[in-house]
Amino acid sequence: MRYRICIDKDLCQGHGMCCAEAPRLFSVTDQGRLYDTVELLSEIVEGEAYQQAIAAAEVCPNSVITLVPVNELP
Ligand code: SF4
Repeated sequence: MRYRICIDKDLCQGHGMCCAEAPRLFSVTDQGRLYDTVELLSEIVEGEAYQQAIAAAEVCPNSVITLVPVNELP
């Protein structure tokens, strides 16, 4: 099954722990907000990438990463 990575950027504080856990999926950049903010490098994941996204969600101190199942993509 494929999943869409969803992030609440308003609550992201740019810790970068997600990037350390899954550098192919997450980056932290200056987006003109109060804190540097996470940027998604890949929005849809499955298999190993899904496992990496789950690991990143688990280490995120602000719990802003969620994964939503995607049934069918166009
Ligand atoms: S670990 Fe969480 S709060 Fe920190 S940069 Fe990543 S998504 Fe944002």
